[in-house]
Amino acid sequence: MLDIDTPQPITREELQPLLERLAADAPRCFGEGKVASYIPALAEVEPDQFGIAVCHADGSVQYAGDAATRFSIQSVSKAHALVLAMQQLPPDELWARVGREPSGQAFNSIVQLEVENGVPRNPFINAGALMVTDMLVSKLWMPQNTLRDQIRRLSNTPEVDFDERVARSEMDHKAHNAALGYLMQAYGNIHSDVEMVLDTYFHSCALSMNCIELAKSFAFLANQGVNPFDGQPVLTPVQTRQVNALLLTCGLYDAAGDFAWRVGLPGKSGVGGGIVAILPRRMSICVWSPRLDSYGNSIAGRHALEGLVSGLNVTPLG
Ligand code: GLU
Repeated sequence: MLDIDTPQPITREELQPLLERLAADAPRCFGEGKVASYIPALAEVEPDQFGIAVCHADGSVQYAGDAATRFSIQSVSKAHALVLAMQQLPPDELWARVGREPSGQAFNSIVQLEVENGVPRNPFINAGALMVTDMLVSKLWMPQNTLRDQIRRLSNTPEVDFDERVARSEMDHKAHNAALGYLMQAYGNIHSDVEMVLDTYFHSCALSMNCIELAKSFAFLANQGVNPFDGQPVLTPVQTRQVNALLLTCGLYDAAGDFAWRVGLPGKSGVGGGIVAILPRRMSICVWSPRLDSYGNSIAGRHALEGLVSGLNVTPLG
């Protein structure tokens, strides 16, 4: 038998100085990358900020840096939208219209969509999120409010709301996402009014939350599908495992492989600079720093997650 030394995970007391050290080190990354500017309202964000929050599976939180500053969650909301769709639709119906494979393409790529007859590769690229939003629009009376209310419950924060300025700014610069929506409609895969789908999708992206709230809103994925704040099941344990698998393979666009290599946790990024990661059965994590790499992922955020995973002494894939 091989005698492998299993490292002991650090305690909560040891975690706090680790979070503070990661926040203190973050400015080293501030020289690199740019704030997303293709959505004008996002371009105004002060770039040199950094926050980190951990929500343990029991709902308790630890944080450091600018963890209480709200930002635009952008594509992190695609994970929330998928969870709502999994609650609302039978699996056969849902997965007939969107795939579960990494795309290897940019988050808003249209190339693959035409080659693959208007069926998006996965729910975390823009085309896939628009498809999921279409299903929610067909199914729910007020989809964006249902999604917001679910996130309020999951984060145990009734104040979570849309930043209407960001939503409007996205609608004013909708051309690329509109092209994705209308192309899928041309293939018969979008069933509702495309403009309504776009408006709902932009509102989900325009939810304004901080690291603490966002980490809390994903705690159920670290707790076998149960929301620790009210004890209610959100997903079954099997669905929870499936969402985490999809986050690992598709959550960081065409940099998902590199993120898995470096961090080794299921995650979801957004162009607002937030990244959420899940350590199954242990904790959900949110890091935020607005400067992005060329893939649209936060540079300081990813760097901090690498430091956190090595400092935690856990090796979920090892
Ligand atoms: N609202 C953004 C868009 O649709 C989200 C992109 C992202 O965060 O990756 O372009």
